[in-house]
Amino acid sequence: MTFREGSRMERGRVSVGGSGGGGRGGKLAIGGGAGGLIIIVIALLFGGDPGSILNQISGGDSSAGQVDSGTSGTLEGCETEAEANSKIDCRIGFTVSSLDTVWESQLQAQTGVAYVQPGVNLFSGATNTGCGNATSAVGPFYCPADSTAYFDTSFFQVLVDQFGSSGGPLAQEYVVAHEVGHHLQNQLGDIGRAQADPQGPESGGVKVELQADCYAGIWAHYAADTVDPDTGVPFLEPLTTTDIDDALSAASSVGDDRIQQASTGSVNPEGWTHGSSAQRQAWFTAGYETGQVAACDTFSAGDLNNP
Ligand SMILES: [Zn+2]
Repeated sequence: MTFREGSRMERGRVSVGGSGGGGRGGKLAIGGGAGGLIIIVIALLFGGDPGSILNQISGGDSSAGQVDSGTSGTLEGCETEAEANSKIDCRIGFTVSSLDTVWESQLQAQTGVAYVQPGVNLFSGATNTGCGNATSAVGPFYCPADSTAYFDTSFFQVLVDQFGSSGGPLAQEYVVAHEVGHHLQNQLGDIGRAQADPQGPESGGVKVELQADCYAGIWAHYAADTVDPDTGVPFLEPLTTTDIDDALSAASSVGDDRIQQASTGSVNPEGWTHGSSAQRQAWFTAGYETGQVAACDTFSAGDLNNP
């Protein structure tokens, strides 16, 4: 039980099924702007590795998979904290509302940039995005072109079964907070660094991913203390050691070294896109312990192993 009695999800906040992007629908018309355009999504499993991503995402047609054309609308029926604590869809919805509340107070205060809520879409199988069509195989991802985070909720069982993560609530909530972390990078102008330099142990890709882990930690730092103005209570109960261990377990389970070891039997840092298991845990912890955006500056860090 991590969501506090009396906490409530913002109605209509999360879109489900069909096309994402907050209900805009279909592939957005995208053209070259003065600042260039990011079309590669930032995915939990494959990062900015174009070889992996482009097998899963194709712009403009439906060949990437059966696009979810089921009922599209918004996430409904998640009325109480009891549902958030027992149903995965509701847990994501409540987590998004908690993230909104924390970042609405912290982002402007710490950086001077006003927080703009990202779109959040729950889909099944495949979906249209502003970055093209995507299947569940890429895992959760964030599309900068439509400022939307996408989740196929079946992934959370994959995280446990295939990647060896804990299945605890904060393991799942960490994934949501990480994707919203990419949205903050989009707002702050840092996300393009992943595309410019996607791969390798000191790459922009790894630094963007570790920074998103750190931002997830910042959310965890404030989530039990930041009062939702709509309800008068914070979203989360105070975090326990078990909660933090769940988040660290999830962060570790998607470390590049661990995935490489499991899939190829060896570790090759030149292929890294997200950082090692230890680095991902270290940066989440840096955000959790400090609560400071400035503590998440992976680009200036002398040693990514020691935030
Ligand atoms: Zn990521």
